[in-house]
Order: sequence, then structure tokens, then C-alpha cells
Amino acid sequence: MNGLLRPARRFLSRCMLPVVERAASSYVAGQTVADAMSVAERLQSRGRQFTVGYWDGLGDSPTRIVEEYIAGIRAIAGKPGTYLSIKVPSIQFSAELLRDVITEARERRVRIHFDSHSNEEATDTRTLCETFIDSGVELSYTLPGRWIRSIADAQWLIDCQLPVRVVKGQWPDTHQSERDLREGFLAVIDALAGKARHVDVASHDVTLVREAMRRLRAAGTSCQIELLYGLPMRESLALAEELKSPVRIYVPYGKAYLPYALSKLRNNPRIAWWMLRDFASSFLSAG
Ligand SMILES: Cc1cc2nc3c(=O)[nH]c(=O)nc-3n(C[C@H](O)[C@H](O)[C@H](O)COP(=O)(O)OP(=O)(O)OC[C@H]3O[C@@H](n4cnc5c(N)ncnc54)[C@H](O)[C@@H]3O)c2cc1C
Repeated sequence: MNGLLRPARRFLSRCMLPVVERAASSYVAGQTVADAMSVAERLQSRGRQFTVGYWDGLGDSPTRIVEEYIAGIRAIAGKPGTYLSIKVPSIQFSAELLRDVITEARERRVRIHFDSHSNEEATDTRTLCETFIDSGVELSYTLPGRWIRSIADAQWLIDCQLPVRVVKGQWPDTHQSERDLREGFLAVIDALAGKARHVDVASHDVTLVREAMRRLRAAGTSCQIELLYGLPMRESLALAEELKSPVRIYVPYGKAYLPYALSKLRNNPRIAWWMLRDFASSFLSAG
């Protein structure tokens, strides 16, 4: 049965590619770093900080992805309070390729941030980050609250005093039983509070952000709110105002949620139907 399902799903993924791309396009600022910078500069003129990150897609080689990272560094160099977000599984955890990015970042004094990915990729991501910890470039790192290992990783980040972004996490913990997303997030916040150099509270869940910010501030830890371009943020911005917290917005560009969307599509073909419906309705309303 599975033998039949797999080619059928592969066929479905391929047919749905244009639909997925169209549906995902609202989550990125555009295809190019110039697109991302025009959004980022608009945000900056409204008092927001930002990070940009190239989201690669099928067919992007690691060398091509590194070129995008270097273009990103050049674009944001000299802009205070910003950094480049990168995805090291996309460059196959290559220290050689990352060295080019780090060299450029050192010259331009740009911070490099490690996004988190699947649980299986977490150890290689951490190892690569450790390789460059004394490179003279400021590094920072994402911890997903839903993984049990994030508590130990939090201690590592405290020991090396790297700024941390805490997220719920898009990928489940495959090694242990799943934790409640909010409880896991707050457990990581508690592990960092009073000890971490800086924590970015990256969530659109306003109840959770309020509590995380309260705990970090009570412990005297530097913290701020981070939001993702393309997700609803009206309530989050109102909360930031109330808490008098600066806000940084992650502005992705490139191929949208394509890698995530495709893997979700394979696991749950019903998503293809929802996307097709969204696509059809936006097509009809555009006409
Ligand atoms: C700046 C930024 C960077 C990111 N970087 C990464 C990364 O590197 N790696 C990664 O894997 N992911 C990353 N993410 C994505 C993140 O892991 C989440 O998948 C995504 O942000 C959605 O979760 P959320 O916390 O924003 O809120 P959601 O879970 O989408 O919640 C939003 C809404 O649902 C409500 N809600 C949620 N849970 C509950 C509940 N239990 N009870 C009642 N109401 C609830 C909230 O009130 C809110 O209105 C990032 C996100 C941001 C904002």
C-alpha cells in the first residue's frame, strides 16, 4: 500500500508545486534581497528593527545559497540592530561554505543567526555553530520550546553567552514525547532567565509573549519581541507598545515556505486541497 502511496504523493507534490509556490508567496517579501530590503527599510522608518533571511527552495545549490547570504550581509551592513538569519541544513552543514559567509560577516561587522530546523538536524547545527564561535563574528541561535534537548542547549548558549531566539518550533521532537508548545516555550524561557545574555521572544501568541517577557524582565534579562513577516501582527504590535518593547521583524525572501509546505503536503495531502481552494479564490477575486 505504502509502495503505491509514495509515487502518488510524489506526483501530487510535483503537480501542486505552482499552487504551493503561489500560496506561500505571501510569507516572503519577494524573490530578491532588494525586495527584502525595501520591506525592511519601510519597517525601519516606522521604528522597527529587522533581520533578513534567504529561504531557499528546490533546485537551489548550496553555493547559490551562500551567494544569497553574502548578498544579504552586504545589504544590511551598517544598519544598527539587525542581523542575517541563515539555514545551515540548506548548505549541507558545510564548514567550508559557511567560512565564506563568516569571512564576509567579519569584514562587514554583521551578526549571523542560526535558524532552527528539524530535531534530527539540531546536533549538526550546533556543531557548526561551535566551529565558528571564536571567529570574531557575533553569532546567535534559535531554540524551539517543543524539544526536550532545548533545555541543555540553553545551558550551552548561557555558557558561551550567545543571544538566543526562542520559538515554539515548526518541527516536532522526534526523540521524545511531544511537549505542550506553550509549556515547552516557557520552560526554555525559565532556563534562560537571569543567565542568558539576551533573549528574543519570537512568537505571535500574545498570551505567551506577555508571560515570557514578564519572566525575563523579572530576572533582569535583556529581551525583546520578534515577529515574522507575513503572519498577523496587529495584536503583537499592540502588546509591544504596551510593554514598551522594541520589535524586530524577520523579513524572509526567496522561496517562501516551500520546503516546509512540501513536506507538510507529503504528510497530509488534504493540505493540497486547502491550498488549491485558496489559490482558486484568490485567482477569482483577482479577476
Ligand atoms: C521571528 C520568528 C522567527 C522564527 N524562527 C523559527 C526558526 O528558526 N525555526 C522554527 O522552527 N520556527 C521558527 N519560527 C516559527 C515558530 O516556530 C512558529 O511555528 C510560528 O511562529 C507560529 O507560532 P506562534 O508562537 O507565533 O503562534 P501560533 O501558535 O501561531 O499562535 C498564534 C495565535 O494562536 C493563539 N494560540 C496559540 N496557542 C494557543 C493555546 N494553547 N491556547 C490559546 N490560544 C493559543 C495565540 O493566542 C495566537 O492568537 C519563527 C517565528 C518567528 C515569529
